[in-house]
Amino acid sequence: MREMKNQFSKRYQLTLDRVRKTGTPAYTPEMVVADVIPRHERRFTEFSGDVSGRYLGALACAARTRSESYPELARVASEVVSHQKPQGYFGGSFAKAGIQKEDMALLWGNGRLLIGLLEYYATSRQKPILDAATKLGDFLIRIAPDMNSDRVRRQFEDGAFAMGYICWTQIIEGLAELHRVTGSAAYRQVAESMAERTERRPNEHSHGFLTSVRGILALYDVTGDRRFLDRARQEWQGVIGSGNVLVPGSVPEAWKPKAHRTEGCSEADWLRLSLGLWGRTREPGYLAHAERTLFNEFAMNQFDSGDFGHRVISRTGFPIGGNEEGGGTARAWWCCTLHGLRAFPDVVAHVFHVEGDALAYDLPVEGRGESGKMRLLAESSLEQSATVRLIVESAKAGAPILIREPGWVYGLEIAVNGLRLATLNRNGYHRLSQPWKAGDVISVRYILRTRGERDAATGRWALWHGPWLLGAEELASPHFFDEPHHANLLDIRLLASGDADLDPDPTPDDNHFAVQQARFRVRYLPGGYPMFPSSVTLRPIAEQTGHRPSAWEYLFRIHGDKQG
Ligand SMILES: [Zn+2]
Repeated sequence: MREMKNQFSKRYQLTLDRVRKTGTPAYTPEMVVADVIPRHERRFTEFSGDVSGRYLGALACAARTRSESYPELARVASEVVSHQKPQGYFGGSFAKAGIQKEDMALLWGNGRLLIGLLEYYATSRQKPILDAATKLGDFLIRIAPDMNSDRVRRQFEDGAFAMGYICWTQIIEGLAELHRVTGSAAYRQVAESMAERTERRPNEHSHGFLTSVRGILALYDVTGDRRFLDRARQEWQGVIGSGNVLVPGSVPEAWKPKAHRTEGCSEADWLRLSLGLWGRTREPGYLAHAERTLFNEFAMNQFDSGDFGHRVISRTGFPIGGNEEGGGTARAWWCCTLHGLRAFPDVVAHVFHVEGDALAYDLPVEGRGESGKMRLLAESSLEQSATVRLIVESAKAGAPILIREPGWVYGLEIAVNGLRLATLNRNGYHRLSQPWKAGDVISVRYILRTRGERDAATGRWALWHGPWLLGAEELASPHFFDEPHHANLLDIRLLASGDADLDPDPTPDDNHFAVQQARFRVRYLPGGYPMFPSSVTLRPIAEQTGHRPSAWEYLFRIHGDKQG
C-alpha cells in the first residue's frame, strides 16, 4: 500500500506520537492508571478513570483504523480492570451520604472509562474487558434512580461546571455501546433516561454536553429510533443558534456568557458531532461545518508538541501569555490531547462515502474509500498546491466517482490520466463515469476563493483563502500588535460578492504546517499611528501548530468600512 504523508496525516501522527512516545508528561502505564487506583500523584486523578478511559479508547480506535498494533494497550487494560471495585466502579469512593461534587467527578471518569473499555473491547475481543464494562454498567443501573431524581438534577444543574450534571448524562455514549454489544435493554433504558435529562445550560461545560449529544446520536444508531436523531440535530442547531460557535469553527469550554477559552475536547466533540450528523443525514451543511472546524479550530488547537488544549478567546482572536489564572494557553494532556487523538479516526471515516452505486470524495484530505465496486486512494496536496490525486486501486465496471465541490472554491478542474474533462457541479458534486481500471489517476484542482465574511457578533471581518481562516500572528508581525491594535485598519477592498484580491507573500517558511499559497501581504493603518501605513502577513491560523504558541488576531476592521 502507498504511504499517505500529507498535512492531515502528519497531524494525526504528531498526536499519536505524543501519546505513545514523546512529550511531557509521558503517558506511562503508571501515569495513566493512577486515576483508577486512585493514586493521587498527578492532576485530576479524582476524575476516576478519565485519563485511563480516554487513553484506551483513543489508542484502540487509532490502532484499529490504521491496522497497527500497540502492545502497551493490553498492559494498561489489564492493569485497569484489576483495580475495579467490588461494587463495579473505579477510582475514588462515593460519599457516605447523598451525592457530592466529588461523586460527580468520579462518575465523569467512570463514564469516560466505560466507553474507553468498550472501544478497546471492539478491537481486542477479550472477555475480561467486556466483563469489567458490564459490571460497571450494572453499577450505573443501580444508582440510576437516585441520579435521575429531580433532587440530584437540581443540585448539579448550575455552577458545578466540570462536576455538573453532565457528568451523569455523558455516560449515554458508553451505555448505548454496552447495549449494542450485550443486547441488554436495561443499559438502553438508563441511557434513554439520561437523554431526557440532557440540556445545554449557560456557563456549563460544553465538552460534557456535546459528549452527551454524541451519546444521543449513538442511541439512535443502536435503537433506530428517529427521535434520537431529531434530538441530536435540534441540539446541534441550538448550539449554533445560541451564538456559541465562533468564526474558526470553535466552541468555548464553557457556554456563553462565560465563554472564556476554547477546549480541545469540545472542539473534537463539535467536529465529531458535525461529522456524525453528516454521516446519518447526508445534509451538506453538517459537512461544511465539520470542514470549517477541521481546517481551522481543530488545526489551530493542536500544539507543536502534538497536544491539544486551551486558548483564551478575545474579541478579535486568541491572545497569549499567562496561564489558566491569567489567560493564554494550556496543553491539556489530562483530557484534550487524548480526546483530540480520538477525533482523527472519525475524520478518516468521513473522507469518502458510498452514495448509491457511486463512491463520493468529500473531505479534501488523504484517505481511502471503498464501495462494493471500487477502491480509491486520495493523496492530498491541498496545502501545497490546492490539488488532490485520486488513484483507482481497483474497480469493477460501471462504478461512478463523485467529487464534492466545497463552497470555498470558484470551481474544480478535473483531469483523468492527464486529460482535462469538462464536468458540471450538480448538487455539490462532479460525477465521473467511465470504465475505470486500476492505476487510473484523477487529478482535482481546487480553484480557491479569497473572500471576506462579516462576523455578525462584532461587525468585524474575517478573511478566508479556500478553507483557511487567515490571521495576523505576533511572531511574524510584532508591530501589528502595538496598542491599540484593535483599531488597526486593513487597507483592502472587498467586492460586493465578498471576494478579495490580496497580494501573495512569497517569503518562504520552514514551518511543517505552512500553507504558502494562503499567505498574503496586506497594507494597514496602525491604530496608534495611522500616518505611518505598514504591512502585515496574513496566513492560516492553522499554521500555529508549526511553532510555539503565539498571539493571533483574525477579526479585522477594514479601512473605509463604517461598521465594526
Ligand atoms: Zn479537554
